[in-house]
Amino acid sequence: MKSIQSRMFLSVAIACATVVMTQPLSAQNKRPLHKKSTQPITVQWLGHAAFEVTSSTGTKILIDPFLSGNPSTPDSLKQLGRYHPQAILVTHSHADHALDAVTIATASGAPVIGAVEHIASFKLPAKQSMGGNVGGRFTIGDVIVHLVPAMHSSDPGGRPLGFVLEFSDGRTLYHTGDTWVFGDMSLIQEFYHPNIILLGVGGGPYTEGPKEALRAIQKYFTPDHIIPMHYGTFPGLSDEAEVKAVFGAERHTVVMRPGQVRVF
Ligand SMILES: [Zn+2]
Repeated sequence: MKSIQSRMFLSVAIACATVVMTQPLSAQNKRPLHKKSTQPITVQWLGHAAFEVTSSTGTKILIDPFLSGNPSTPDSLKQLGRYHPQAILVTHSHADHALDAVTIATASGAPVIGAVEHIASFKLPAKQSMGGNVGGRFTIGDVIVHLVPAMHSSDPGGRPLGFVLEFSDGRTLYHTGDTWVFGDMSLIQEFYHPNIILLGVGGGPYTEGPKEALRAIQKYFTPDHIIPMHYGTFPGLSDEAEVKAVFGAERHTVVMRPGQVRVF
Protein backbone atom coordinates (compact mmCIF):
# COMPACT_ATOMS: atom_id res chain seq x y z
CA MET A 1 0.00 0.00 0.00
CA LYS A 2 2.75 2.36 1.01
CA SER A 3 4.71 1.70 -2.18
CA ILE A 4 1.59 2.38 -4.31
CA GLN A 5 1.14 5.76 -2.58
CA SER A 6 4.81 6.54 -3.15
CA ARG A 7 4.56 5.71 -6.85
CA MET A 8 1.38 7.84 -7.20
CA PHE A 9 3.08 10.74 -5.47
CA LEU A 10 6.11 10.38 -7.73
CA SER A 11 3.88 10.30 -10.85
CA VAL A 12 2.00 13.45 -9.80
CA ALA A 13 5.27 15.21 -8.97
CA ILE A 14 6.77 14.33 -12.37
CA ALA A 15 3.57 15.45 -14.12
CA CYS A 16 3.63 18.80 -12.33
CA ALA A 17 7.30 19.30 -13.05
CA THR A 18 6.68 18.47 -16.71
CA VAL A 19 3.90 21.08 -16.91
CA VAL A 20 6.16 23.71 -15.40
CA MET A 21 9.15 22.82 -17.55
CA THR A 22 7.16 22.63 -20.79
CA GLN A 23 5.55 26.06 -20.34
CA PRO A 24 7.29 28.70 -22.39
CA LEU A 25 9.34 31.09 -20.25
CA SER A 26 7.16 34.02 -21.27
CA ALA A 27 4.06 32.28 -19.90
CA GLN A 28 5.81 31.56 -16.60
CA ASN A 29 6.76 35.21 -16.29
CA LYS A 30 3.12 36.22 -16.76
CA ARG A 31 1.99 34.40 -13.64
CA PRO A 32 0.52 36.83 -11.12
CA LEU A 33 3.05 37.81 -8.51
CA HIS A 34 2.14 37.64 -4.86
CA LYS A 35 0.78 41.06 -3.91
CA LYS A 36 3.28 42.90 -1.78
CA SER A 37 2.11 43.03 1.81
CA THR A 38 1.02 46.43 3.03
CA GLN A 39 1.91 48.06 6.33
CA PRO A 40 -0.73 50.19 8.07
CA ILE A 41 -0.71 53.94 7.41
CA THR A 42 -2.60 55.95 10.05
CA VAL A 43 -4.20 59.25 9.02
CA GLN A 44 -5.78 61.70 11.47
CA TRP A 45 -7.59 64.73 10.09
CA LEU A 46 -7.03 67.68 12.43
CA GLY A 47 -9.37 69.99 10.48
CA HIS A 48 -8.96 72.10 7.31
CA ALA A 49 -5.67 71.02 5.61
CA ALA A 50 -4.01 69.75 8.82
CA PHE A 51 -3.22 66.05 9.16
CA GLU A 52 -1.03 63.84 11.26
CA VAL A 53 0.17 60.82 9.26
CA THR A 54 1.90 57.94 11.04
CA SER A 55 3.86 55.19 9.31
CA SER A 56 3.72 51.55 10.38
CA THR A 57 6.89 51.99 12.44
CA GLY A 58 5.60 55.12 14.19
CA THR A 59 7.13 57.92 12.14
CA LYS A 60 4.79 60.87 12.70
CA ILE A 61 4.51 63.57 10.02
CA LEU A 62 2.45 66.67 10.82
CA ILE A 63 1.17 68.50 7.73
CA ASP A 64 -0.09 72.12 7.58
CA PRO A 65 -0.48 72.70 11.33
CA PHE A 66 -3.22 75.32 11.51
CA LEU A 67 -4.62 74.20 14.85
CA SER A 68 -4.79 76.76 17.68
CA GLY A 69 -6.93 79.15 15.61
CA ASN A 70 -8.71 76.55 13.49
CA PRO A 71 -12.51 76.67 14.04
CA SER A 72 -12.91 73.08 12.84
CA THR A 73 -10.20 71.53 15.04
CA PRO A 74 -11.60 69.78 18.15
CA ASP A 75 -10.52 71.58 21.35
CA SER A 76 -8.43 68.63 22.57
CA LEU A 77 -6.35 68.78 19.39
CA LYS A 78 -5.67 72.52 19.67
CA GLN A 79 -3.23 71.92 22.54
CA LEU A 80 0.06 72.28 20.70
CA GLY A 81 2.09 70.54 23.42
CA ARG A 82 0.52 67.20 22.45
CA TYR A 83 2.37 67.10 19.11
CA HIS A 84 5.72 65.34 18.91
CA PRO A 85 6.21 64.74 15.17
CA GLN A 86 9.41 63.62 13.48
CA ALA A 87 8.81 66.37 10.91
CA ILE A 88 6.40 69.22 10.16
CA LEU A 89 5.45 69.83 6.51
CA VAL A 90 4.12 73.21 5.42
CA THR A 91 2.70 73.55 1.90
CA HIS A 92 2.81 77.37 1.82
CA SER A 93 2.94 80.49 3.95
CA HIS A 94 -0.74 81.32 4.45
CA ALA A 95 -1.87 81.22 8.08
CA ASP A 96 -4.51 78.57 7.48
CA HIS A 97 -1.59 76.20 6.76
CA ALA A 98 1.46 77.51 8.61
CA LEU A 99 0.08 79.19 11.75
CA ASP A 100 1.47 76.83 14.41
CA ALA A 101 4.51 75.43 12.60
CA VAL A 102 7.14 77.44 14.46
CA THR A 103 5.54 76.98 17.91
CA ILE A 104 5.35 73.20 17.49
CA ALA A 105 8.85 73.04 15.98
CA THR A 106 10.32 75.03 18.86
CA ALA A 107 8.57 72.95 21.51
CA SER A 108 9.19 69.56 19.92
CA GLY A 109 12.53 70.08 18.17
CA ALA A 110 11.04 68.73 14.94
CA PRO A 111 12.40 69.98 11.60
CA VAL A 112 10.11 71.91 9.25
CA ILE A 113 9.99 71.03 5.55
CA GLY A 114 8.74 73.45 2.90
CA ALA A 115 9.85 75.92 0.24
CA VAL A 116 13.36 77.15 1.03
CA GLU A 117 12.49 80.85 1.26
CA HIS A 118 9.49 80.15 3.47
CA ILE A 119 11.48 77.93 5.83
CA ALA A 120 14.28 80.52 6.04
CA SER A 121 11.74 83.12 7.20
CA PHE A 122 11.05 81.00 10.32
CA LYS A 123 14.65 81.56 11.53
CA LEU A 124 14.75 78.15 13.20
CA PRO A 125 18.09 76.46 14.01
CA ALA A 126 19.79 75.06 10.91
CA LYS A 127 19.14 71.43 11.87
CA GLN A 128 15.38 72.17 11.94
CA SER A 129 15.33 74.14 8.68
CA MET A 130 14.64 71.72 5.83
CA GLY A 131 13.99 74.08 2.95
CA GLY A 132 13.63 72.58 -0.50
CA ASN A 133 11.90 73.11 -3.79
CA VAL A 134 9.85 71.29 -6.41
CA GLY A 135 11.42 67.93 -7.26
CA GLY A 136 13.32 67.75 -3.97
CA ARG A 137 13.04 65.05 -1.35
CA PHE A 138 13.79 64.46 2.32
CA THR A 139 13.96 61.20 4.25
CA ILE A 140 12.25 61.21 7.65
CA GLY A 141 12.55 57.86 9.42
CA ASP A 142 11.03 55.27 7.10
CA VAL A 143 9.18 57.90 5.02
CA ILE A 144 10.46 59.74 1.93
CA VAL A 145 8.88 63.17 1.48
CA HIS A 146 8.73 64.37 -2.14
CA LEU A 147 8.09 68.06 -2.91
CA VAL A 148 5.69 68.52 -5.84
CA PRO A 149 4.05 71.55 -7.47
CA ALA A 150 0.82 73.24 -6.47
CA MET A 151 -0.85 76.08 -8.36
CA HIS A 152 -1.49 78.78 -5.77
CA SER A 153 0.57 81.55 -4.10
CA SER A 154 2.84 81.80 -1.07
CA ASP A 155 3.81 85.28 -0.01
CA PRO A 156 5.95 85.88 1.89
CA GLY A 157 7.98 82.76 1.36
CA GLY A 158 8.82 81.08 -1.90
CA ARG A 159 6.27 79.09 -3.81
CA PRO A 160 3.38 76.76 -2.93
CA LEU A 161 3.97 73.03 -2.76
CA GLY A 162 2.20 69.71 -2.46
CA PHE A 163 3.79 66.71 -0.75
CA VAL A 164 3.97 63.03 -1.63
CA LEU A 165 4.86 60.72 1.26
CA GLU A 166 6.41 57.42 0.15
CA PHE A 167 6.20 54.57 2.68
CA SER A 168 8.40 51.50 3.09
CA ASP A 169 5.80 49.16 1.53
CA GLY A 170 5.84 51.26 -1.65
CA ARG A 171 2.50 52.97 -1.09
CA THR A 172 2.23 56.76 -1.35
CA LEU A 173 0.08 59.54 0.08
CA TYR A 174 -0.37 62.86 -1.77
CA HIS A 175 -1.36 66.06 0.08
CA THR A 176 -2.35 68.50 -2.65
CA GLY A 177 -1.91 71.70 -0.64
CA ASP A 178 -4.01 74.56 -1.99
CA THR A 179 -4.27 74.33 -5.75
CA TRP A 180 -6.20 74.51 -8.97
CA VAL A 181 -6.20 71.53 -11.35
CA PHE A 182 -2.97 71.54 -13.37
CA GLY A 183 -1.50 69.39 -16.11
CA ASP A 184 1.57 68.30 -14.15
CA MET A 185 -0.77 66.26 -11.95
CA SER A 186 -0.32 63.64 -14.70
CA LEU A 187 3.40 63.52 -13.84
CA ILE A 188 2.66 63.24 -10.10
CA GLN A 189 0.58 60.18 -11.03
CA GLU A 190 3.27 58.84 -13.37
CA PHE A 191 6.10 59.15 -10.85
CA TYR A 192 4.38 58.47 -7.53
CA HIS A 193 0.99 56.82 -8.33
CA PRO A 194 -0.62 58.03 -5.07
CA ASN A 195 -2.62 55.41 -3.20
CA ILE A 196 -4.13 57.93 -0.77
CA ILE A 197 -4.94 61.51 -1.81
CA LEU A 198 -5.67 64.26 0.72
CA LEU A 199 -7.58 66.41 -1.74
CA GLY A 200 -8.28 70.12 -1.41
CA VAL A 201 -11.92 70.68 -2.40
CA GLY A 202 -12.90 73.87 -0.57
CA GLY A 203 -13.40 76.24 -3.49
CA GLY A 204 -14.56 79.74 -2.62
CA PRO A 205 -12.23 82.57 -3.66
CA TYR A 206 -8.94 80.68 -3.38
CA THR A 207 -8.77 77.08 -4.63
CA GLU A 208 -10.39 74.41 -6.74
CA GLY A 209 -13.86 73.45 -5.59
CA PRO A 210 -15.41 69.98 -5.37
CA LYS A 211 -16.29 69.70 -9.08
CA GLU A 212 -12.82 70.70 -10.27
CA ALA A 213 -11.17 68.47 -7.67
CA LEU A 214 -13.25 65.49 -8.77
CA ARG A 215 -12.33 66.22 -12.38
CA ALA A 216 -8.65 66.22 -11.39
CA ILE A 217 -9.10 62.73 -9.90
CA GLN A 218 -10.96 61.45 -12.97
CA LYS A 219 -8.45 62.93 -15.38
CA TYR A 220 -5.15 62.19 -13.69
CA PHE A 221 -5.28 59.75 -10.77
CA THR A 222 -6.24 56.20 -9.77
CA PRO A 223 -6.12 56.30 -5.96
CA ASP A 224 -7.38 53.66 -3.55
CA HIS A 225 -8.65 56.34 -1.16
CA ILE A 226 -9.62 60.01 -1.58
CA ILE A 227 -9.95 62.14 1.57
CA PRO A 228 -11.51 65.57 0.83
CA MET A 229 -10.14 68.45 2.93
CA HIS A 230 -9.95 72.26 3.18
CA TYR A 231 -13.74 72.65 3.36
CA GLY A 232 -16.29 73.60 5.99
CA THR A 233 -13.82 75.70 7.97
CA PHE A 234 -14.87 79.23 7.05
CA PRO A 235 -17.88 80.89 5.42
CA GLY A 236 -17.42 80.85 1.66
CA LEU A 237 -15.85 77.40 1.51
CA SER A 238 -17.82 74.34 0.46
CA ASP A 239 -19.56 72.49 3.28
CA GLU A 240 -19.78 68.76 3.86
CA ALA A 241 -23.16 68.44 2.10
CA GLU A 242 -21.76 70.04 -1.06
CA VAL A 243 -18.68 67.79 -0.97
CA LYS A 244 -20.81 64.67 -0.49
CA ALA A 245 -23.14 65.73 -3.32
CA VAL A 246 -20.21 65.89 -5.75
CA PHE A 247 -18.16 62.94 -4.45
CA GLY A 248 -21.09 60.70 -3.50
CA ALA A 249 -20.73 58.49 -6.57
CA GLU A 250 -16.92 58.27 -6.29
CA ARG A 251 -16.54 54.97 -4.45
CA HIS A 252 -12.98 55.63 -3.29
CA THR A 253 -14.01 58.69 -1.26
CA VAL A 254 -13.55 58.66 2.52
CA VAL A 255 -15.33 61.61 4.13
CA MET A 256 -13.70 62.16 7.53
CA ARG A 257 -14.65 64.34 10.48
CA PRO A 258 -12.04 66.60 12.13
CA GLY A 259 -10.30 64.57 14.81
CA GLN A 260 -11.15 61.24 13.19
CA VAL A 261 -8.46 58.59 12.69
CA ARG A 262 -8.43 56.11 9.79
CA VAL A 263 -5.99 53.30 9.13
CA PHE A 264 -5.26 52.33 5.52
ZN1 LIG B 1 -5.69 77.34 2.38
